[in-house]
Amino acid sequence: MSGQISFFKSVENYVDKAAAFTDIPRGLVEQIKACNLVLQIRFPVRIGNDYQVIEAYRVQHSHHRLPTKGGIRYAESVDQDEVMALAALMTYKCALVDVPFGGAKGGIKINPGNYTVEQLQNITRRYTTELIKKNFIGPGIDVPAPDYGTGPREMAWILDTYQAFRHGEIDSIGCVTGKPVTQNGIRGRAEATGRGVFYGLRECMSYADDMAKIGLSKGIAGKTMVVQGLGNVGSNTALISQQEGDVKIIGIAEREGSIFSANGIDVEKLMAFRKETGSIIGFPGTEHIGGPSAALELECDILVPAALENQITLENADRIKAKIIAEAANGPITADADPILQKKGIVILPDFYINAGGVTVSYFEWLKNLSHHRFGRLENRFQHEAFHGILTKVEEMTGKTISDREKDFLTRGGTEVELVNSGLQDTMVVAYQQIRETFKQHPDIRDVRTAAFVCSLKKIASDYVSMGIFP
Ligand code: GLU
Repeated sequence: MSGQISFFKSVENYVDKAAAFTDIPRGLVEQIKACNLVLQIRFPVRIGNDYQVIEAYRVQHSHHRLPTKGGIRYAESVDQDEVMALAALMTYKCALVDVPFGGAKGGIKINPGNYTVEQLQNITRRYTTELIKKNFIGPGIDVPAPDYGTGPREMAWILDTYQAFRHGEIDSIGCVTGKPVTQNGIRGRAEATGRGVFYGLRECMSYADDMAKIGLSKGIAGKTMVVQGLGNVGSNTALISQQEGDVKIIGIAEREGSIFSANGIDVEKLMAFRKETGSIIGFPGTEHIGGPSAALELECDILVPAALENQITLENADRIKAKIIAEAANGPITADADPILQKKGIVILPDFYINAGGVTVSYFEWLKNLSHHRFGRLENRFQHEAFHGILTKVEEMTGKTISDREKDFLTRGGTEVELVNSGLQDTMVVAYQQIRETFKQHPDIRDVRTAAFVCSLKKIASDYVSMGIFP
């Protein structure tokens, strides 16, 4: 925890700071900040010959839009305050990227590594049953997704449990997102958060005047990056930044320690190495520079903390040498460390913007589930034939021939993953532009986090106002 102030309180403080730049009535700010519903659960699971009491939560932070939405994490750090803070961040995240959901989050206080797959399945199914009993899950109520320690496998268990209880409910497949593609998931969801981090960074770094202020040239290509955490978010951020953005990954941190190479680290090969040896340490061409937080202090252009919260604290903030920090994890910078980094001139792309790609593609998955068909299925062939007709006409009118290869390229409709990635890219770009616009309107706002909170707050407040609660 960050000194004495709790994670939830620190989110509230950020909101208060941003609210001062708006004319939203004080009472409405208090309503927006409050957690609407908190469910605390204790249930037993049988482990061997004994029983274990499992502590779990689901928090629905805001009902200004429904369903509520947010992941479920399995981690020993889970407690009510953490889940409340993460649920609140989901509210601001969804509003910022125009995903029409309220924020929620769930958590089970376990280290999944300590349980067998069968035990994890029992825990997940029992947790889902508790959510069903309390009416805390459903495609129009509250829609969970993966978070730290969970993935498509857990989402498939949740869906199956839900359907067992809600047999025949036509939209039941929309009760959870981040499902395996074969279980009504959507292509592109697994890498969506990391891909979104890349799109957000690329957009931020595309403004020459903004970059000049921190001593960087325009553009992401050739810039150096350090990533903490090779889980789903960190590994995809590193891979996509390297493969599609030509970024040089010079440092990686994982549980077992940190590695560095001035020449760049091939992330794909590193992942294979870790799978084989169980560690990143000893990867050829890299230097072992210390424990899991050592890489955070490397000199680099972009630092991506993609593990858990509270990684950059009062203790190490002074030693951070990055120019940009992309908070791929939720809450990696403590509230007391934030001003120190700002004083050093570091640009911080806040969690609820930069990691919003996950929930954005969850929204696409939910839309796909509710529409009961894959994107492009109805229109692709029709569009292909119509475009083909136009190209034939162009050939007739110009007397020139277009090659079959070119024709194929120009006439084909997008595949599901192409459509998803294009929607994701657009979402991250538009949200960044809105944040930038807010900067222009409020020259006294100094940091991206505050500007982003102002954007979110205005959207949420306008929802409340149009509901008529605050005339
Ligand atoms: N757990 C992810 C997050 O923190 C994704 C949430 C979702 O897809 O609903 O944003």
